[in-house]
Amino acid sequence: MDVTIDKKLKDLWKLQQIDSRLDNLRAVLGELPMEVADLEDDIAGLETRVSHIANEIAEYNHEISNKKNAIKDFQRLIEKYDDQLNNIKNSREYDAINKEKEIAGLEILSAEKRIREFGRQIEMKEELLGNTQNALTSRQKDLEYKKAELTEIEKENAEEIDKIMLERNTAESKLDVRLHRAYHRIRGNVRNGIAVASIMRGSCGGCFSKIPPQRHSDIRAHYRIIDCENCGRIFVDQSITGIAAMDEEKVEKTTRRKMRLTTK
Ligand SMILES: [Zn+2]
Repeated sequence: MDVTIDKKLKDLWKLQQIDSRLDNLRAVLGELPMEVADLEDDIAGLETRVSHIANEIAEYNHEISNKKNAIKDFQRLIEKYDDQLNNIKNSREYDAINKEKEIAGLEILSAEKRIREFGRQIEMKEELLGNTQNALTSRQKDLEYKKAELTEIEKENAEEIDKIMLERNTAESKLDVRLHRAYHRIRGNVRNGIAVASIMRGSCGGCFSKIPPQRHSDIRAHYRIIDCENCGRIFVDQSITGIAAMDEEKVEKTTRRKMRLTTK
């Protein structure tokens, strides 16, 4: 037995246990942080839509007031033509002014038609705006609720997490850089956050693949660090984990149940 290896394995197992406790505490938060983030995205999107629709309505209103001004101009023009018609000199001039007056009248009709069209657009946009604003309000209420829920759970967890983090820092500082890096790499690669696996009835406690007998006795020998050929997790045997054979089975059952849940 290599004393250094023995100590390294113990330190690794300690860190793994701490991280598993942290993982469990964070799992209590569950989907909440993600739901909050999703809601915040939704709200940002809806706010953009609301301001976009409001801008469109403002543009239509601007167009309407332009058209109303144009109508006033044409009306003044028509009044001017009427005055001219009262002082008419010949029938050719009369026809020409009447023609102009007719054109102005048509322009007014066309402008009025446009105003009605813009009005219909505004009605549609206002309905859309109302619906979007309702959706926005409802999302904002959801967010408020979820955030309050999250804050409460976080508060409950925070104290415990702080305490465990202190423990974690100590455990982490004991690991050498290479092991530390390997531990994080494995933890990042596996589904359940277990980088250091115990041996369960001759199988890897992480992926449950069978461990060859020679490898099994190598693991027990503690003369080098041995990882699972199948999943890459670092092995620790019972002398490190201190799990009695009886408990081992219980642990295995829970782990298997967890695996089933996470792989669903
Ligand atoms: Zn494995």
